[in-house]
Amino acid sequence: MRKPKIVVLGAGYGGLMTVTRLQKQVGVNEADIVLINKNDYHYETTWLHEASAGTLHHDRVRYNVTDVIDTNKVEFIKGTVLSINSEEKKVVLEKGEVEYDYLVVSLGAEPETFGIKGLKEHAFAIANINAARQLREHIEYQFATYNMEEEKKDERLTIVVGGAGFTGIEFLGELTNRVPELCREYDIDFGKVKLICVEAAPMVLPGFDPELVSYATAQLERKGVTFMIGTAIKEATENGIVVGKGEDEVEEIKAATVVWAAGVRGSSIIENSGFEAMRGRVKVQPDLRVPGHDNVFIIGDCSLIIDEKVNRPYPPTAQIAMQQGELCASNLVALIRDKGELGHFTFDNKGTVCSLGHDDAIGVAFGKKMTGGTASFMKKMVDNRALYMIGGPSLVLKKGKFNVL
Ligand code: FAD
Ligand code: NAD
Repeated sequence: MRKPKIVVLGAGYGGLMTVTRLQKQVGVNEADIVLINKNDYHYETTWLHEASAGTLHHDRVRYNVTDVIDTNKVEFIKGTVLSINSEEKKVVLEKGEVEYDYLVVSLGAEPETFGIKGLKEHAFAIANINAARQLREHIEYQFATYNMEEEKKDERLTIVVGGAGFTGIEFLGELTNRVPELCREYDIDFGKVKLICVEAAPMVLPGFDPELVSYATAQLERKGVTFMIGTAIKEATENGIVVGKGEDEVEEIKAATVVWAAGVRGSSIIENSGFEAMRGRVKVQPDLRVPGHDNVFIIGDCSLIIDEKVNRPYPPTAQIAMQQGELCASNLVALIRDKGELGHFTFDNKGTVCSLGHDDAIGVAFGKKMTGGTASFMKKMVDNRALYMIGGPSLVLKKGKFNVL
C-alpha cells in the first residue's frame, strides 16, 4: 500500500513542533514527512525585536532546520510557497510543486498595515531575519551619519514606534538599552535622541493588567521614551509620519526611522489559495482542520480559534502555535492509523511575560504578577523552554539565554 504523504509548510514554532513530534511518533513505513520552509534556518520570531534593535546578533536568533529534524524520517525542502491548490492536493513553490495527502499550514504572520498610506514604502517591520538586520543597520547608519553633516538633522535621531502592543513595547525596551550604546559609539548627546511610541488605543498594552502596564510605561518613560496615547498613525511619508487624534487634529513628526509594530495578519498565501479567512486567519475546527478540507490543518498565526470565555479570537502567539503543533501531530497520527476521533484544541495558558530590555520585564505567570529582575528571569526561561520543546537540551545549550542579571 502507498504510504500517505504529510507535507508541513513553515519551520516556525507551529511547523517545527508538528514535525519534531511526528518524527518521534511515526515509523518510516507509516508515512512520508516533508517540511518546506523559505530558508534553511528557523528563526525565533519572539526574539526578533532584539535582533532589530541590535541588542542580540541575528545569528543568535536562528538555527539550522536540520539541527532539529531527523533527516532519516523527514525530507526538508528549502523553498518558497506561492500557493496551495487544495483541489489537486498540491503546493505550488517558486520552483516546482509538491503533492500531499495531508497538509499542515504554519506560515506565520505578516504586518497588517490596514491600508494606511505610505507604510509599506516608508516604515520598517519586525518581521523576519532580513527585516531585523535591515532595521538594525538603518538605525546605526542614522547615528553614524549625524556628525558627518555640517547642518545637523535631528530627525536622524528620532525613532517612532507605531503601536504599544507587546511587539512595540518589547522593541522600545531593547532600544532603551541600545541607544545609549550608539550615543557613546558615535559621540552623540542622548538628549538629542527622541524615542516616540504612538498608540491609537487609550492605553499602552491594551487589555493587559493595568498595574503592570503602569510599571512598564513608567520604566520606559524614565529611560527616555515618550508615549503619544490615543493617537493614531495616519500616514507615513519620506520625512516621518502624520498622526492624529480624531479627524481634525493632525500633526507631522519628522523621523528618519519609523517602525510599524501595530498589528499582524496571517500569511497572504492563505487568501491567495482561496481559503475563507479574516485577515489571513482561517477559523479552524476544534481538531485544527479547515472546515470542508478534511486533510488540511492550519495552525499558528494563520489560524483563528475563538476563546469562548471572552468570545474573541485568541491572540496569535508562539505559545498557542506550539500547543497546536503538538495536537496537530497527534491528530495526524490518528488519521494515518485510522484511529477514530481526533483530539480537540484547548489552550493551556501558561501566562504572558513582556520584556522591557535585558534586565527588566513585566508578566503574569502561574497566576502571579511579576516585574523587574524576576520577570526578566522568567522571560529568559520562557525563551529557553521554546528551544527545549523543539530541540531538547542540546539546542538550549547552543542557543539559550543564560545571562540572567
Ligand atoms: P512563525 O514562527 O513566524 O513561523 C513561520 C515560518 O514560515 C517561518 O520559518 C517563515 O520563514 C516561514 N514562511 C513564511 N512564509 C513562507 C513561504 N511563503 N514559503 C515558505 N516558508 C515561509 N508570542 C508568544 O507567545 N510569546 C512571546 O514572547 C512573543 N514575542 C514576540 C515578539 C515579537 C517581536 C513578535 C514579532 C512576535 C512575538 N510573539 C510572541 C508572537 C509569535 O512570534 C507568533 O505567534 C509565532 O511565531 C507564530 O508561530 P507560527 O508557527 O505561526 O509562525
Ligand atoms: P497587537 O495587535 O497586539 O498590538 C498592536 C497595537 O497597535 C495595538 O495596541 C493597537 O491599538 C495599535 N495600533 C493599531 N493601529 C494603530 C495606528 N494606526 N496607530 C497607532 N497604533 C495603532 O500587535 P503586536 O504587538 O505586533 O502583537 C502581535 C501578536 O504577538 C499578539 O498576539 C501578541 O500577544 C504577540 N506578542 C506577544 C509577546 C509576548 O508575549 N511577550 C511579544 C510580542 C508579540
